[in-house]
Amino acid sequence: MRRIQNTSELETVKQILWNAEHAVFFGGAGVSTDSGIPDFRGNGGLYRNEEESNEYYLSRECLLCEPEKFFSFFRENMLFANAEPNDAHIALAKLEEQGIIQSVITQNIDGLHQKAGSQRVIELHGTAARYYCTKCRKVFDGQILLEQTGVPHCTACGAVIRPDVTLYGEALDGFCFADAEEEIANADVLIVGGSSLVVNPAASLVHTFQGEHLIIINYSPTPYDGLAEFVIRDSISEVLNLLAEGNT
Ligand code: ZN
Repeated sequence: MRRIQNTSELETVKQILWNAEHAVFFGGAGVSTDSGIPDFRGNGGLYRNEEESNEYYLSRECLLCEPEKFFSFFRENMLFANAEPNDAHIALAKLEEQGIIQSVITQNIDGLHQKAGSQRVIELHGTAARYYCTKCRKVFDGQILLEQTGVPHCTACGAVIRPDVTLYGEALDGFCFADAEEEIANADVLIVGGSSLVVNPAASLVHTFQGEHLIIINYSPTPYDGLAEFVIRDSISEVLNLLAEGNT
């Protein structure tokens, strides 16, 4: 493992990326912090600043037992309606358009990769931009929460609708996880960014990587730094911007 000290090393990382057969980006909350979205589990994140019960407000138990509280919290903290993609999202969309990376796997639910133009996005924890009826499974976009107050209900059958997001107390979507595993298993270059890699099972995805080049971009150390070829402790937006710039 080498920490990037100078631009020539960053240039090496860029050459590895641009020469990749199948490069994949796997990102966490740190990718969206520059868009004003708190890192829910990192230092200074929502869960550390406020009461621990925030975890309860985003749980399956709260949705089922106290849906008013659930949606009140969700509306206030999880809609991200005014959030815009930052340089990290934009650089990743550019890298995909240029054919440099094949896909983005994210732990975020803010939909900012798609907003930036990324096409192939695997959302491990679902998305706050999509809702579905708990009874008839009719699907709605985020507009439904703006059109209704309190607990939103299905326009077809009247049952409660819920966000298409993995809540505390729920398992990750198996199909989505398998898709992510396959992408990473097929990659020769894996860039992990903005994730402290401590939350499983998403973090364990790194173990499915069999390729040659693991690159970690994160301010704080991760348990996987020792496995990485390069560790870059710098701004993810700035680093991705540089990696996406022009030809090597
Ligand atoms: Zn329904």
